[in-house]
Amino acid sequence: MTKLTVIAGPTAVGKGTVVRHILASHPEVNLSISATTRKPRPGEIDGVHYFFVSEERFDEMVANNELLEYAVVHKTHRYGTPRKPVVEAIASNEQIILEIDLQGARLVKTAMPEANLIFIAPPSWEELGRRLAERGTETAEQIAVRLDTAKAEMAAQGEFDHVVINEDVAKCAQQVLELMQA
Ligand code: 5GP
Repeated sequence: MTKLTVIAGPTAVGKGTVVRHILASHPEVNLSISATTRKPRPGEIDGVHYFFVSEERFDEMVANNELLEYAVVHKTHRYGTPRKPVVEAIASNEQIILEIDLQGARLVKTAMPEANLIFIAPPSWEELGRRLAERGTETAEQIAVRLDTAKAEMAAQGEFDHVVINEDVAKCAQQVLELMQA
């Protein structure tokens, strides 16, 4: 059984909500906490949502080979997956989920071909735009950049091992869990 699950999909598709749903009912599943150079949003906690690091610290992590993969996301900040927790989870035969972008998903698949890549898709393109606007955490300019990234991500669905549509969070989470246990 594959222990490493990579979840990707366009911005605002609800990946985070789906993952939280899975973790709430399956506390034995680990979630990789990424490092990022982005500043925390209100309510985000260092070491819980991300490891919020400086550009200098991120450079150091890259130089020390501490990251399994990293990428510049939405043309602004760097995000990366700390290698150690992933290696440790696999060694202990525990499940671990990485919620990362398309570039990161490709890099993980190259480094670890056994990784199970799951793409979370919106019910429609219109619905995705609506969810992004509704979230209200981005400016109009940031929304435009994110929709641009989302277009490219939607076009890459075929590279994934599985595609799950997030029409309903509970149903989507259940489908992902089944794929993780298959
Ligand atoms: P946000 O800034 O909204 O928290 O995240 C922006 C994007 O960064 C999301 O699409 C998320 O999947 C991606 N992301 C988060 N952590 C990582 C990571 O460690 N590596 C990569 N490649 N992307 C990440």
